[in-house]
Amino acid sequence: MSKLRLATVWLDGCSGCHMSFLDLDERLLAVAEKADLVYSPLVDQKEFPAGVDIALVEGAVSSEDDLHKIQVVRARTRILVSLGDCAVTANVPSMRNKFPLQMSLDRAYKENVTLDPGTPTQGVPALLEKVRPIHEVVPVDVFIPGCPPSADTIFYAVSELLEGRSPDLSPRTRFGA
Ligand code: SF4
Repeated sequence: MSKLRLATVWLDGCSGCHMSFLDLDERLLAVAEKADLVYSPLVDQKEFPAGVDIALVEGAVSSEDDLHKIQVVRARTRILVSLGDCAVTANVPSMRNKFPLQMSLDRAYKENVTLDPGTPTQGVPALLEKVRPIHEVVPVDVFIPGCPPSADTIFYAVSELLEGRSPDLSPRTRFGA
């Protein structure tokens, strides 16, 4: 039987969810027996490929780059998984939502800066006015709460999906650490 095509994606998150994925440790070998990792911050593949079976997506949608990326991911993925609280609720990145974007930019790049203050406009993606969880932007198939979800939870969910089953995550997950 041919292997499934697995991807992981990093939007606006701290990478803690990817660290939790890496905490699968030797269980990564079990995953690798069933799936090829075709796109990830962990591998050297620049463009999200077509025909992905399962994509684990960490982080909220905060910038125009995030927005474009998640739309491409959705169009090319069969099962899209929101991995972690930032993906599921927007969590920490959305703390700026209660302020106008310009106020946040001024705080970060002018008020707290002594050397050459100024908002960068080139070489960085423009921020969206509000940070949004993934399912407010594109349809999501599976939600894995947690900050981050444990390696055990991620392994269970991925294993079930690789077997063609829908994981029952309700007894295993909760929001927050
Ligand atoms: S859910 Fe928690 S661990 Fe995951 S990216 Fe967000 S802040 Fe980091």
